[in-house]
Amino acid sequence: MMHLSPVICPRKDCNDEIAFAAMRCAGCGHTDVGYPNVRYADDPAEVAALDARARTAFALADADGSRAVLNEFELACSKSTAVTVMAPVDLLSIVSANKLWVSFYKQSRDAGSRVAEDNKWDMNRSANDGKVNPQYYEEINYAALSLTDRGSGWYGGCHVSLIPDRIAVRATVFWQNPFSFLKDKPLAPDEIVPPGYRASWSRRAELAVVKLHSKIHADTKADAFASILLEDDPGRGDTEFIEVHIFGAVAPTAFAKVTVDVSRFDEDQELDWESVKRRLARRDIPISETKLG
Ligand SMILES: [Zn+2]
Repeated sequence: MMHLSPVICPRKDCNDEIAFAAMRCAGCGHTDVGYPNVRYADDPAEVAALDARARTAFALADADGSRAVLNEFELACSKSTAVTVMAPVDLLSIVSANKLWVSFYKQSRDAGSRVAEDNKWDMNRSANDGKVNPQYYEEINYAALSLTDRGSGWYGGCHVSLIPDRIAVRATVFWQNPFSFLKDKPLAPDEIVPPGYRASWSRRAELAVVKLHSKIHADTKADAFASILLEDDPGRGDTEFIEVHIFGAVAPTAFAKVTVDVSRFDEDQELDWESVKRRLARRDIPISETKLG
């Protein structure tokens, strides 16, 4: 597959190649083969490309006197978290009915509970997602990399922070949301995303440095880091952020905190939110209600 190297089954005496999107070795049944998105991000060519771009970023920072601040930014991003945003009614079904947080595709097809909209995002969603996460895109849950309790955009108003330890093994980060990425860098039908735009969870700060180093200057203050990593935009739109891709269903035990902007709820959402609040309290998941206007 283009620049990607084959992955060999880790079980002794097997040596079969693990299929690109497989969750187990088809030859011996060994199941400890990791997640497809993580294997992809850990591909030697991907890692080498990102490392090379990081060296360039740090060399430029050395030259213009911003290295110390860039180091600080990298350290801050190494503690960044994933925040996803959903509507109160969706959060309610997860915390009340012991359901799981599943991908857009699982919601709309398997459960039949989500209606795709005829907007530019939903109409192009599978084509774009499939380019960035080929073969396994239907398994991916999306979040934004954040230094605060807030994720990207409106999308329903409940910002759910995830506990890093509970997603690390199956999470990767990607340059942008696939829609924006492919708008900026169109790919031919037979091309895959070039290497250097994705990283495993433990290397998320390196991707942040590579993407954002030109916004870090010698006089950039640490309190500006959050809005450099994730653009402030309370409206639904094409904001810039690093996307977190989490493979497979996520249980509410992975929720660290829920932050909502209550001033934007309509009546139905207010009612749902009241129910969500009670259920979150029962699960000892802290909430924060803000009024951002
Ligand atoms: Zn095997």
